[in-house]
Amino acid sequence: MSVQVSVYQSLLEWCSQRKVTLVAVSKTKPASDIMELYELGHRDFGENYVQELVQKQDELPKDIRWHFIGHLQSNKVKYIAPFVHIIHGIDSVKLLQEVNKQATKLGRVIDCLLQMHIAQEETKYGLDIDELNNLLDQLHTFPSVRIRGLMGMASFTENQDQVKQEFTQLKKYFDHAKAKLASTEFDTLSMGMSGDYSLAVEQGSTLVRIGSLLFGARQYQ
Ligand SMILES: *Cc1c(COP(=O)(O)O)cnc(C)c1O
Repeated sequence: MSVQVSVYQSLLEWCSQRKVTLVAVSKTKPASDIMELYELGHRDFGENYVQELVQKQDELPKDIRWHFIGHLQSNKVKYIAPFVHIIHGIDSVKLLQEVNKQATKLGRVIDCLLQMHIAQEETKYGLDIDELNNLLDQLHTFPSVRIRGLMGMASFTENQDQVKQEFTQLKKYFDHAKAKLASTEFDTLSMGMSGDYSLAVEQGSTLVRIGSLLFGARQYQ
């Protein structure tokens, strides 16, 4: 058994005391691991890969709320649009356009978060402040998308001061966007993973994405 049940229970308690949503990141993990948490009442799960998510959604209970947290290619939106609960990684107008198109076809409104680039690393995806503003100015042209907030990933570093600064920056972007949109539905700040979630919550996170702490280390082929 690889699910850390006692860790889950204390983490859930910790999160609910702070009104923070706990998303269990189950990428690369088998459906049986997801079911262990499901049977404890957990419903929010995060996945990074479209094909893996589609397969798991097909197999698993339909009341699971699937968070797509990976990098999403426009040509794959159609596979997850019918069921996805929220897409965390919107990082271009083009992608938002495609989500809007697929959502319109399905007659649904899809919740999304805009991903901001906050890490020092070149490789991490995300918008900068100008791209954020530009995108926010165009939101009225995407009626089938509801922007619920922002998401970001801090640098992978031992330097806690740096991680803290990056989260503080993301919180500033969040406050800026919330003021600009003047929307009460803009209420989600997705930041924090197994290694940095408490720092993230200190800086204002409302949703943490936790994988290895709950399911053990991942093994990639
Ligand atoms: C894999 C992943 C996580 C979970 O990472 P852990 O360190 O295992 O908690 C969170 N967010 C994103 C975007 C991820 O890709």
